[in-house]
Amino acid sequence: METDERSARESVVAAARAMDAQGLNRGTSGNVSLRFRDRLLITPSGLPTARMGPDDVVPLKFDGTHPPDQRPSSEWRFHRDILASRPELAAVVHAHPIHSTAFAMCGREIPAVHYMIAAFGGPNVRCAPYAAYGTAELSELALAALAGRNVCLLANHGMIAAGESLEKALWLAVELETLCQQYAVALQVGAPMILSDHEIGQIVERFRGYGLNASKP
Ligand code: 13P
Ligand code: ZN
Repeated sequence: METDERSARESVVAAARAMDAQGLNRGTSGNVSLRFRDRLLITPSGLPTARMGPDDVVPLKFDGTHPPDQRPSSEWRFHRDILASRPELAAVVHAHPIHSTAFAMCGREIPAVHYMIAAFGGPNVRCAPYAAYGTAELSELALAALAGRNVCLLANHGMIAAGESLEKALWLAVELETLCQQYAVALQVGAPMILSDHEIGQIVERFRGYGLNASKP
């Protein structure tokens, strides 16, 4: 295996481990993919991250084929479909963190209760309707919920975050979980105030030069 493929596979494993370490995933829930040349490198199905190494990462072609002795994540369809339809994105992470998943269990989208929602591309985070895990239907629903956004919730399941890099996708996943935690507490405190589309539009513009976006030309 070439050195650059090896290091790309290592970064996929590191991202999967980071999701566990940050409390976004437990056990075998969640998965990670990274665009690499004409394919994607995706975590294997059902393997705890503690036991995962670079050789377990599956090179998946965009037609869905892969080495016969390897089993890609059961969610390879939405990873593949997101990276195929959004050329600006290079990495996708999927997780079942507590607060995001709690809203997803209620089928609730996240409104603009904090200006940080602008990091996700607009004034709300949509929740895709329920479909069974691993299905083409779930992929289709997730893609629609991601229109103009880089994150979404999946009803009765979890969340997806996608970015120009693994680092960005992970950052977005942490930010979404944080926002959902804050929103859950705010709903207990009182009636959260919703920022206008105009306010959020301004922050979307400001974010173009902020944080992980700042290195972009
Ligand atoms: P995999 O172990 O097949 O990636 O599945 C985990 C998951 O979160 C399914 O939605
Ligand atoms: Zn899942």
